[in-house]
Amino acid sequence: MKIAIFPGTFDPVTWGHLDIIIRAAAMFDKLIIAVAQSHEKVPLFDINERVEMIQVVLREALPVSQNYEVTGFDGLLVQHALDMQASIIIRGLRSVSDFDYELQMAGMNQRLAPHIETVFLMAHERYHFLSSTLIKSVAKCYGQTVDFVPPYVAENLRRKFDPSLKEGAV
Ligand code: ADP
Repeated sequence: MKIAIFPGTFDPVTWGHLDIIIRAAAMFDKLIIAVAQSHEKVPLFDINERVEMIQVVLREALPVSQNYEVTGFDGLLVQHALDMQASIIIRGLRSVSDFDYELQMAGMNQRLAPHIETVFLMAHERYHFLSSTLIKSVAKCYGQTVDFVPPYVAENLRRKFDPSLKEGAV
């Protein structure tokens, strides 16, 4: 059984991430979508919110597929991969600037766990320009994000930035 793991911060999950998830789930027996705590990035959404958003949108995006699991983790990715019995790490590549960072990370992970292989999927040309960071900048200025993230995620972004939509607001 080939188990792959797709790690990321997913702050929040975008159509670009979902495209990689759907393609990877079709390639392997099981796909673990592993949401990193990522303290150093100071995420907008906490880890439980990020996990929940992925679970909600995947219920629609992969309705018949049961071959995925969404997990949260803190610490070393290769340790989480070992814990989940994954032998393949999936990463998405959008640009040359992604490549530099990904090459370093793949090299480090190879040293740490030589039997775990990193596999890269090229971003779909429709989603090359999408990044969670840019989408948050748009949402922060009350711009529309529905073209970039599923409606449920767009609604969560709106709630984060529009104080009148926050729970308990008068
Ligand atoms: P990280 O903090 O680990 O880079 P991200 O959530 O930013 O986490 O990204 C997780 C993975 O998804 C990375 O491999 C990244 O390159 C990939 N990714 C991000 N945005 C896209 C996109 N628009 N299309 C394809 N892959 C993407």
